[in-house]
Amino acid sequence: MRPVIDGHNDVLSHLEEEGAPDDALLHEDTATITVPRATQGGFAAGLFAAWPPTPHLDFNRTPGGYDMPYAPAIPWEDGARSIGRLGARLFRLLETCDGAVKLVRDVADLDACLAGDALGIVFHMEGAEAIDTDLDALDVWYAAGLRSLGPVWSRANAFAHGVPFRFPGDPDTGPGLTEAGKRLVKRCAELGIAVDLSHINANGFWDVARVLEGPLIASHSGVHALCEYTRNVTDDQLDAIASSGGLVGINFDVGSLREDGGDDEDTPLSKIAEHARYIADRCGVDHVAFGSDFDGATMPRDVPDASAYPRVLAALEAAGFESDEVDRIAWRNWRRVLAEAWR
Ligand code: ZN
Repeated sequence: MRPVIDGHNDVLSHLEEEGAPDDALLHEDTATITVPRATQGGFAAGLFAAWPPTPHLDFNRTPGGYDMPYAPAIPWEDGARSIGRLGARLFRLLETCDGAVKLVRDVADLDACLAGDALGIVFHMEGAEAIDTDLDALDVWYAAGLRSLGPVWSRANAFAHGVPFRFPGDPDTGPGLTEAGKRLVKRCAELGIAVDLSHINANGFWDVARVLEGPLIASHSGVHALCEYTRNVTDDQLDAIASSGGLVGINFDVGSLREDGGDDEDTPLSKIAEHARYIADRCGVDHVAFGSDFDGATMPRDVPDASAYPRVLAALEAAGFESDEVDRIAWRNWRRVLAEAWR
């Protein structure tokens, strides 16, 4: 079976909200990605997000799209507590799953997961609220296994400004990186932590492009030209991602895929292929990958969880992608880009 590396899921938050047992991933239906479902679907490894929640967050999701008010910033203490809790859950999970789930710290670990040894977790922070502006916590979390970080989620923090979820909307919503944000991005590159731009605003994106020596990554976004959603990447951003050697992990969230922005599960998998085709035609197939957003968004009915990945791959083939191109989209591009970011 063809393996898949997937750029984004919210399984850790889901397990935490459910109060799931530490070994939950061994059981089929506890989350959208579990060991049985991953085995069934060829899901080899993914970026598992640790996201600090905002209480009473109002996404204002309507049938016609999102119109989210600007989410309030959260205090450092709250971010540190939330991420500490999710990190602790991750390490207990690894302990109790006893080899069936593996923390991916380097390319050798990733290759072992691609060979089928275990379900691979790349530990990702979605928003750097848990990091102090001296960046001490970044070094500690790196030592613990952090290998990917989005400086900001869809709100402001000490480092950057995120885009609110809006459709239709433009990602140009405010100022770019702060001075601490520039230091954060540089330090991530020094340590070998991938920098993810999926929730950052336009000015922040371009600041990162100037500061970061390494691949630009939008781990779970779509194409703005096909769906005018604030979190989707514009054509000039796509060009910058490609020239940096980076990639876009296509988000399966139906509101990121559909041209009407609608929250409709009856969205065909051909929509995922359309976003892939757009990027491949504009920049080359080496810059297209997956970033499903399992457990964090509304998935198309045909891909409710990781076991259904072969259907997504079949949709790419049906859209005319060659077998070698499907390999790149499914896993080779993520492997290349993570290897580059982790050097
Ligand atoms: Zn996200």
